Amino acid sequence: MAECAEDGCDAEAVVELHVPWADNRVVCAGHARVIARQDGVVADPLDGHEDAWP
Ligand SMILES: [Zn+2]
Repeated sequence: MAECAEDGCDAEAVVELHVPWADNRVVCAGHARVIARQDGVVADPLDGHEDAWP
């Protein structure tokens, strides 16, 4: 499994974020919810985790 890319978070990464001002990163569902609120961020569920993201 992939780990969340956010500092200090070792939860399983389930979503890839496409961030216009930074590199793409994979994060857990909790971090995805927070980061995807920002304008221009696109969240893409990882294969096998399609149910982790509405
Ligand atoms: Zn996280």
